[in-house]
Amino acid sequence: MSDKVNRRDLVGQLARGAVILGFGGAAGYLAQKANGQIVWQVDGAKCINSRLGEVGVEACSLCTTECVVLQSAVRAVNDFSKCGRCSICPAYFNIKSAVDSNGLPSEKRCPRDAITRKPIGVVDPQDPANNYYEYVIDEEKCDGCGKCVMDCKEPMGLGSIRLKVRHNLCVACNRCAISTACPKGAVERLTVSKALNFGRTNEAPR
Ligand code: SF4
Ligand code: SF4
Ligand code: SF4
Repeated sequence: MSDKVNRRDLVGQLARGAVILGFGGAAGYLAQKANGQIVWQVDGAKCINSRLGEVGVEACSLCTTECVVLQSAVRAVNDFSKCGRCSICPAYFNIKSAVDSNGLPSEKRCPRDAITRKPIGVVDPQDPANNYYEYVIDEEKCDGCGKCVMDCKEPMGLGSIRLKVRHNLCVACNRCAISTACPKGAVERLTVSKALNFGRTNEAPR
């Protein structure tokens, strides 16, 4: 067994303890955790998966594979204020898959089935372009693989889904293993107050 796996086992136990605090408690956890402390966060403008212009390439999954926590501390987060609620969301559907009997792509994009699609209001089957849906990510399933993020960005989507380090799951390594591996230098240290502001913009429910 590799050193990395051993380290993952150890920090995985710590992280499981942190999970008990609950996903919704991230802001409180951060506030308790530090006065002036710094935390790690993904800069969406640099990450391959959300960076504009980075198209025609495979989604980068290093946030999943490099984090020392067993199920990475990075999650996909949908900013509802930016989401177009598209009928055929390229982050939800594999839009290259065969069309089914309802006229929808037959496969989903997420390998962990972590995204749910709920209609908003009454669905009019005669007017599919004017039906709208809410896309909600189940963070207990998501492991931050980045596939949905890559396909949400322009030109296919509106770029409402981003990767975020969840601080109630992160064990705040002195040197984040993802930041070392990231080819774009996209995992950065922020002050807690900046991270909290960042969180408010991107995590508020509708
Ligand atoms: S390693 Fe860097 S480029 Fe890759 S998904 Fe993570 S933040 Fe994005
Ligand atoms: S990041 Fe990967 S696991 Fe998470 S919701 Fe998106 S496609 Fe699914
Ligand atoms: S600091 Fe980086 S590698 Fe360590 S747990 Fe947090 S996200 Fe994972």
